[in-house]
Amino acid sequence: MNQENQKIVTRFAPSPTGMLHIGGLRTALFSWLWAKKFGGDFIVRLEDTDRDRLVEGASEQILASITALGMDWAYGPDKPGAFGSCVQSHRLMTYQERIEELLANGKAYRDYRTSEELDAMRSQATSEKRAFVYRKSMAKLDGTITDPHVIRIEIPSDKQFIWEDAVKGLQTWNSKDVDDFVAIKADGFPTYHFANVCDDHAMGVSHVIRADEWLASTPKHLWLWEAFGWQAPVYAHVPPVLAPGGKKKLSKRDGAKDVSEYITDGYTPEALMNYLAMLGWNDGTDKEFYSRDELISAFELSRIQKSGAQFDPVKLEWMNGVHIRAMSVDELYSRAGEWWHPAAENFPPEYKKEVLRLNRERLKRFSELSELTWFFFKDPSPTTELRNMLLEETGLEAQKANEFFEKVINVCDESDFSEENLHDQIYNLCEPLQTKPAVLFKLIRISLVGGKNAPGLFETMHALGKETTLRRLHSAVKLLEATPSV
Ligand code: GLU
Repeated sequence: MNQENQKIVTRFAPSPTGMLHIGGLRTALFSWLWAKKFGGDFIVRLEDTDRDRLVEGASEQILASITALGMDWAYGPDKPGAFGSCVQSHRLMTYQERIEELLANGKAYRDYRTSEELDAMRSQATSEKRAFVYRKSMAKLDGTITDPHVIRIEIPSDKQFIWEDAVKGLQTWNSKDVDDFVAIKADGFPTYHFANVCDDHAMGVSHVIRADEWLASTPKHLWLWEAFGWQAPVYAHVPPVLAPGGKKKLSKRDGAKDVSEYITDGYTPEALMNYLAMLGWNDGTDKEFYSRDELISAFELSRIQKSGAQFDPVKLEWMNGVHIRAMSVDELYSRAGEWWHPAAENFPPEYKKEVLRLNRERLKRFSELSELTWFFFKDPSPTTELRNMLLEETGLEAQKANEFFEKVINVCDESDFSEENLHDQIYNLCEPLQTKPAVLFKLIRISLVGGKNAPGLFETMHALGKETTLRRLHSAVKLLEATPSV
């Protein structure tokens, strides 16, 4: 179907009848990747001809989601092409012209049957247990053009449609179950099928990459291409994204969020893109981590899985962490923006970069930055919880703990605060204090960071510096000396 050297043009053609979900976004991504791979055009076309089902705000949300993932379009609702608008409701004239062509060459006909008559015919067939396939012979062909009517496409009653789907493989469908479908509705608007094919042709689409729920509609579309005498594009029907467990399609109830919510939660567009691409596609190796450019060059339609892929929020978070760890400290710094703890505000960039370097391994989402690093900017508060933690986590009595602190303070006073020396000097205290490193290190860590989790103790001490470290150690001593409030 596809001619060699033909320009690769793909399109994402959402109907703004609902918000774009993860599965839809992944379909858009596959189309975008395929166009980018060949330096072709990716088009976003709004299919808004089903006027009763339009949902307010859906178009905006769809476009914002595509943009949030870092995808751009050559033509879109804001960028018409030589073919005109990318919004179907602005293209009604085109569909009129096209249908005139098919009426003129006898491939389409006006049908004056009312929907009530049609319903009655359908019920009768059901009651007689007959299959109901609408044909021209059943239509009401006489009427005046000003009377309400639809325009239908006449489908040959026994035609084999055989095509190679780029994902699903060889397809053979017979038209005997396919109705003469409506192309132009009584309100003058085209149906999805008609507008879709007219536009794919007008926009020079070479590859139609879409959800596999449209597979059964493809014979209708292929017939339209043939009826017009146009060359059909390559069709690629991609399987759905499934909820964790794999039993049903993913929905919001399964914990899938809007892409903009993921961005607000501190996911990076690159990680989201990488994760979505891997949902139902791989390059045949175990490779999972891809930069945007690597994805573009590695992506192959033929390697899209035939069956549904399960959405896994844990894996997505892991993938985000992998992308964060792959970033340089400068890159991390430029993205950390508003995620810092408010106390970080007046600290110099060099110090913040050091904090990022120390925490890069721990960070899975930018939204965790404040929680993971606040103690680099602010002393832990001397609370009863902190006191309890110091004692419970180490199993030490207050007095004993303070004996330990005294020695640690002496060592810190003398130390040049290099990581290496701090390590040796504090390690050497364990024997005279008759304690295990784990206990002593825990005591120091909790006093410095107000909790159990932090980067390595000596790197943390080094980054905090002598003055801050000593101030916090002294504050812990004071806290342990005080009689606990009950
Ligand atoms: N408007 C259809 C949808 O929203 C597009 C299907 C297609 O890509 O052909 O699913």
